This record gives sequence, C-alpha cells and structure tokens, in this order.
Amino acid sequence: MIELFDEGLHSGVNLALKVDKVLYREKTELQDLMIFENSTFGRVMSLDGAVQTTEKDEFIYHEMFVHVPLLAHGAVRRVLIIGGGDGGAARQVMKHQNVEATLVDIDRTVIELSQQYMPTISGGAFDDPRLKLVIADGCEFVRQSEEVWEVIIIDSTDPHGPGEVLYTQEFYADCKSCLAEGGIIVTQNGVPFVQESELRTSYDRLKTLFTDVGFYLAAIPSYVGGVMAYGWATEEKRHRQHSLATLAGNYIGSGIETDYYTPEVHQAAFALPLNIQKILTSED
Ligand code: SAM
Repeated sequence: MIELFDEGLHSGVNLALKVDKVLYREKTELQDLMIFENSTFGRVMSLDGAVQTTEKDEFIYHEMFVHVPLLAHGAVRRVLIIGGGDGGAARQVMKHQNVEATLVDIDRTVIELSQQYMPTISGGAFDDPRLKLVIADGCEFVRQSEEVWEVIIIDSTDPHGPGEVLYTQEFYADCKSCLAEGGIIVTQNGVPFVQESELRTSYDRLKTLFTDVGFYLAAIPSYVGGVMAYGWATEEKRHRQHSLATLAGNYIGSGIETDYYTPEVHQAAFALPLNIQKILTSED
C-alpha cells in the first residue's frame, strides 16, 4: 500500500501527497499512470510520477487554459487540443456554443481511465458530437494535418517522455501551419520558479515563429513551486490589448459559466512579475 505519493519532478523540490486509496496503477504502453484519492485534492492523476490533474483544482487550470484564448480571440469556431487526455480542456471548450474541437492524445488509456475514475473533469465532453477524438502523437498529427484551427491548446505533460516532442521548434512550426489567420497557440509551460530554462526555451523558440509571444499566469495548488505559465503565441497583437470592457463583453456574450475565470483575472494574468520578465530578457 503506497502511503505517500512523492513527486520529484524538480531537483531539490518534492511534492508529497497522502494516498488515501489507490484506484488505478498501471504502466500504459507509454506512461506510468496512477489515479489515487487524497483528502485535499480529491482524485489525483499522475503520469510518470508527475501530478497531471486533480478533481479539486482542475477548474483553475482548464478555465484559464481555454477561456483566455477563446475570449481574447472572440470569433473561434475550431479548437485543436494536443494532449489533454483528462478531458478538462475539452469540457471547457464545449461550453462555447458554435465551437467544435479536435483532441489529439497519444495515450487512449489516459482518456478511458479519466472518464472512468474522474468523470467530472471531462464532464461528458468526449460524448459531445462537436468533439473529434484522435489517438496519435500530436507532433505527427500537426506535421501531416491540412486543417486549420483558430486556437491550438497544447495541454501536454512536461517535456519528458512522450511529451518532449511537444516543446520542439519543429512542432511549434507545424502548429503554426495549422493555425488560422489571427489564430492563437497556448501552451502548458510549467512553473517558472522551478522550470526557468523550459520557460526561456519555449519563449526563444516561439519568438522565431510569431510576432507576439508572451505568457500568462495562474496558481494551480497541486503544481509545486508557485504560479504556472501558459505560453501565448500569435501574429495578432490585438488579442492581448483588449480593454476590460471588451473582455467583459466577450465573456457575457459567450454565455459560459466559470468558477475561476473573470475578465479581470484574464487581464491581470498577463502582468508578469519582474523575476519572470528577467527569465525572458536575460542575456546569459
Ligand atoms: N495538466 C497536465 C500538465 O500540466 O502536465 C497535462 C495533463 S494531460 C493529462 C497531458 C496529456 O498529454 C496526457 O494525456 C498524455 O497522454 C498527453 N501526451 C503526452 N505526449 C503526447 C504527444 N506526443 N502527443 C499527444 N499527447 C501527448
């Protein structure tokens, strides 16, 4: 019986979660998948020893991942989700009327077990006729796709194992080829305080491809080390220059209900503190 789940994702920093009950533990063909119960976070999913999502705080992560680009863009019809096998991002996208989504995840087992053990996270999104599910390597998928999307959400694991390819220059370039004019790419870009080099590497790579590259922040309680960063890349600077009134109008007009996202939080999320700005601008 595992008493403690001990995540050692970052050197010198561990996250220990008490395991009240192990619900599932198997190595899929690709990843070590575990789902367990914790009194604070509810059901927790980990992949290769890293927390992916939890019932209690997933709403923060997924609402900020989805509603910031969709409400900034204002005219999204098609969304591509790379990764996101827990279905949390898909559930948030499906809140938007007249939007259809394609979700490409490399590991069918993650999708199946998320629905079985953590159904509130996907909330039926996988059964929505507007969602097309593809089991494939996201890197291969965008390389070969002829389709375009207004928003591409890269909801990947961290850059280890199968997720590593989702941080490469080649992958970002292929994503750009799949982006409709004026589209937005957002990425899961880790916790800057403990993943400084990953933040800077993504920034440098995206800067070679897009005119407007930045990050926005949210604190996800189960991600150790402070606020996490979402990467932002687009050719349309205006997407980050909306007034609060415009964001509020888009939010109200969308008719979506949220538990974390507000237009004020959206706007404030792009205000990067100096220590994070320095990671992006330092010469060394
Ligand atoms: N919120 C999590 C985080 O911040 O790390 C990510 C959650 S989601 C479960 C990550 C998903 O990425 C998993 O379902 C995994 O199977 C998928 N994945 C990893 N590498 C992939 C690849 N190359 N192509 C498509 N999906 C991939």
